[in-house]
Amino acid sequence: MKSIRFRTRLLLSFWIVLLVALCLPAYYIHQTLENEILNEARADAYIQLDFVHWLLKESPPFHSNQALDQWCKNVGYHLKYRITVIASGGRVIADSDVKNQKIPLLDNHAGRKEVIGARKLGHASSIRYSITLKRKLIYAAKNINLPIAPSGVLRVAIPLSTVETRLSAFAHKFWGVLFLIFIITMLISFFLAKRLEAPIRKTIQAATAIGEGNYEAHIDIDAGTEFSQLSMCINDMADKIQQNIEMITGQKQELEAVLEGMAEGVMLLDKNGKIKATNQALTWIAKCVPSCIGHRPMEVFLNPEIQDACNKVLSGQEHLKQKVSINSETVYEVNLVRIPDGGAVVVFHDISELIRLEKVRQDFIANVSHELRTPLTSIKGYAETLLDEKFRSSDKAASFVNTIVKNADQMTNIVNDLLELTKLQQKQQKPDQLFPVNATTCFNSAMETCMPMLKEKNIRIVNQLNDSIIVNAEENSLIQVFRNLLDNAIQHSLPETKITVFAQTKKDDVVFGLQDEGTGIPLHHQKRIFERFYRVDKERSRASGGTGLGLAICRNAARKMGGKIWVKSPPDNQSKGSVFYFSLNKPTDSAS
Ligand code: ADP
Repeated sequence: MKSIRFRTRLLLSFWIVLLVALCLPAYYIHQTLENEILNEARADAYIQLDFVHWLLKESPPFHSNQALDQWCKNVGYHLKYRITVIASGGRVIADSDVKNQKIPLLDNHAGRKEVIGARKLGHASSIRYSITLKRKLIYAAKNINLPIAPSGVLRVAIPLSTVETRLSAFAHKFWGVLFLIFIITMLISFFLAKRLEAPIRKTIQAATAIGEGNYEAHIDIDAGTEFSQLSMCINDMADKIQQNIEMITGQKQELEAVLEGMAEGVMLLDKNGKIKATNQALTWIAKCVPSCIGHRPMEVFLNPEIQDACNKVLSGQEHLKQKVSINSETVYEVNLVRIPDGGAVVVFHDISELIRLEKVRQDFIANVSHELRTPLTSIKGYAETLLDEKFRSSDKAASFVNTIVKNADQMTNIVNDLLELTKLQQKQQKPDQLFPVNATTCFNSAMETCMPMLKEKNIRIVNQLNDSIIVNAEENSLIQVFRNLLDNAIQHSLPETKITVFAQTKKDDVVFGLQDEGTGIPLHHQKRIFERFYRVDKERSRASGGTGLGLAICRNAARKMGGKIWVKSPPDNQSKGSVFYFSLNKPTDSAS
């Protein structure tokens, strides 16, 4: 039934209604007409019966049944219908249509409907099939009282064929007209159904187009209120779907952009524990080749901890947070959240840097405490000794006080250097805070400060810098870098040696070098001397007032100015000493 077209259904419905509407009245009319014709035939039969009775009464009296039968045959022959006379007991004594010899063989007619009726009411009629004459007849009977047949019944039987012929002629015409009406209305209904189907077809086409994603498809039909409403509803629906799709697409794109922009790796697991989606960051963590999609976490991370965590969340736990080390260097905080459809969202947050910073912080605190404790212990010890009045008045007291002052200076140096370092570590210098600075002037200024030490050790400075080397820098920071490097070079140089300062101008930057002929730095220390509080020879450094922060300050200052610092010990083609290099950017054309 589902596969039947709407038009066919509509036509079938039309035709069923049409058939009922035509056939019922037609049947009623046919029946009424038939009844009327039959009643008319019955009335006619009674008239004929009365006429035959009158003839019978007017005839001379019959002396035998044969005479009566002959009379019946004569009259019947002229009137063209059957005349029967039935005796009171029901025996037929005369019949126009039955041979004389066969009359005694006829059935007893007492039980015939019209005979019974006539006996009861005086006259009666019936329509039935005559076995004797083998055709349908209308029988009319009435009581008669003849000397030959006292209390008998006279019956006439008129063939119904004329009535039937009339009826069938009428029926033929009637059904013919009906058939014509049916055909015409069928054709009309066919065209009507076609017209009715057109808006439906349009609606289906539009709905199909909308279903296929063409939300621009709108229906414009004018086929009655209901269709207008339907088309309005569908157009409205298409607009709303389009709006919703646009909204969802927008949200999806936003979400994708957010996910792709995230530094955290994100993966979505389906309820079977297979990876359904990932962001770019995750593909770096998991090194998905060619894709992680469709694999289990274990297959891409090769890490049972992650698989276990995923299993826990997939089997019902709402959320889970776990620290996982994927390779020896990288530690991730993995957050797993169950999602309503049974899958899970897994977010990998790289906390290696946090852990490293935490370690640096702890080391730093330990270092600072240690660096401060040494002079502090010394100050405390000497101060306690000085509490003794006798000792205070001794010769050694002055040297004790000197030691206390020296240690206090050391502590001051450490605190100052720490403050300086903190300042430098605060945020990267913004490019607009760097200005073209003459590096030669800065070096001269640093050398001025170190002049007493230079003179003390009789160290010669070989200044190979041009008069004007312009770099993008912050003046005080650049002076400080030169001063710290110069200070270290002097500290670690023997008297009567020389310190050379030079610069190499490159495409985008200038590399400065400060070379001494001092003790040099063993290779395995070279990597670490820029760390805070790192010293090659701790005791010697402390004794000379070093804080172990000088090079850390230089490195931070160089970085802050967009450059870098490194060491080479011994310098190329030399057997001793060290050379410290640092680079600084050249000013851009517009800035210089
Ligand atoms: P300090 O205050 O001890 O000098 P720095 O951070 O300036 O601290 O230097 C770190 C260490 O690097 C020093 O303790 C020293 O051992 C080594 N060093 C620095 N400069 C030189 C140099 N020019 N020659 C030899 N060793 C040096």
